[in-house]
Amino acid sequence: MATIEHWIGGEFTPGRSQRRGPVFNPATGREQHEVVLATEADVDTAVTAARIAFESWSQASLSKRTKIMFNFRELVNARVKEIAELVSDEHGKVLSDAAGEVQRGLEVIEFACGIPQLLKGEYSDQASTGVDMFSFREPLGVCAGITPFNFPAMVPMWMYPVAIACGNTFVLKPSERDPSASNYIAGLFQEAGLPDGVFNVVHGDKTAVDALLRHPDVAAVSFVGSTPIARYIFEQGNAHGKRVQALGGAKNHAIILPDADLEYAADHLTAAAFGSAGERCMAISAAVAVGGAGDALVDLVNRKAGDVVVGGGRDPRSEMGPVVTAAAKQRIESLIDSGEASGAKVTVDGRGLRVPGYEDGFFVGPTVLDQVDPSMEVYREEIFGPVLSVVRADTVDAAIELINSNPYGNGTAIFTSSGEAARRFQRGVKVGMIGINVPIPVPMAYYSFGGWKDSLFGDKHVHGPEGVSFYTRAKVVTARWPHVSHAYDASLHFPTAS
Ligand code: NAD
Repeated sequence: MATIEHWIGGEFTPGRSQRRGPVFNPATGREQHEVVLATEADVDTAVTAARIAFESWSQASLSKRTKIMFNFRELVNARVKEIAELVSDEHGKVLSDAAGEVQRGLEVIEFACGIPQLLKGEYSDQASTGVDMFSFREPLGVCAGITPFNFPAMVPMWMYPVAIACGNTFVLKPSERDPSASNYIAGLFQEAGLPDGVFNVVHGDKTAVDALLRHPDVAAVSFVGSTPIARYIFEQGNAHGKRVQALGGAKNHAIILPDADLEYAADHLTAAAFGSAGERCMAISAAVAVGGAGDALVDLVNRKAGDVVVGGGRDPRSEMGPVVTAAAKQRIESLIDSGEASGAKVTVDGRGLRVPGYEDGFFVGPTVLDQVDPSMEVYREEIFGPVLSVVRADTVDAAIELINSNPYGNGTAIFTSSGEAARRFQRGVKVGMIGINVPIPVPMAYYSFGGWKDSLFGDKHVHGPEGVSFYTRAKVVTARWPHVSHAYDASLHFPTAS
């Protein structure tokens, strides 16, 4: 069984700890690798490598950084299949979905290739007589990324391309459940010409995370994961003087109005609820049927959910793979039990699914719960599995109110043919990312990604313009070049323009 090691200063590093974590293949249910779990000393080694590399990388010209980013883009683009296989084997998602996540990450790398344009400063000629004023942005130093299991390639790519293109160095602490894609990426960066120490990977759990949060040489922390940990990261990072963006969990609702094309809505709800086994922070987990839309919608969704082909991620026929661990399977099934016990109708039941050839895999089939009430645990909890709850609401306003009373605010969607209703929805919901007849409204890389309320702690979303802002800080210069020194009187007054 292979041991997955850290990548520090441009090489694999075993680390000082004997602690190891298991890495499963969720389709077979078997442990396939073990991953080293970092100590505080290992984290210090990685941060030190990044701090030393920062001295020269922060001085590298825009042109050099851009060339390396373009090289990296070409390498990732050429290896989408290899990265997708690593993701599929450790996460469980089907290969086409894994390739899709790499593609969405690649878009952030492409965005970062435009860094010279993004870092252009401002200039005011003759702000005062003989005085010019200009601003530019500088990198912060060592930035850390702490990422979840559900997008082992894409979510780190939301962070490090922008951070590194801005002139920072980076320490990534990926999820210990599916760590291999990050090491593979580190090798591609080296092949692209990135100097050693600019991009480092430490594997581990809470010990590694806490060491990053406390380390005096870490300037900024980007986190994506569940809400309780996001809140913890935000509070601890702030307490240790770091800039923090911490993206949390979600409970995404889609509203379906009676005037929507219900066939279209049911197709897209099925894809958004069961794609990646519902383990997406933008998955739709609650469908709010407005007015008379409910019964017809549930009939359609039941049929489509029943048609989803569940199987191993490497099997080209599979549309949906297993969930990530045995514990996740058990938790999801017990939430379905609790929904049923509190009165919801299980109209499609994915509990106890056995997939031929993968009898020990962590599979839960697509599940639809109708007549769900917002007081039920299955509605309140983020399930993070292939479960769609259908809730009924009398009016659009009642549906908007339901969304707004939820503590999360990541993504939401409306299915309608009414522009007026869509506009009321887009203006009324307290959610960061909104889809109109688009169920998974993930912004392109040149916009920023982030939710509201318990879905994001901090004030900057990831990638796009807010990512550039997060990974840099501004300097404003006021300059005078007097050629006749006595022409400018110095005064004890507070300086004002003249
Ligand atoms: P998680 O919070 O368990 O883990 C995320 C990271 O935090 C991992 O690297 C993990 O090692 C670390 N971690 C776990 N427990 C910790 C602790 N006690 N102290 C310090 N660090 C700890 O999340 P997960 O299960 O890997 O991922 C699923 C969650 O991520 C879901 O809630 C999902 O909604 C969320 N998510 C959100 C977004 C978003 O954009 N808002 C995107 C993807 C995933």
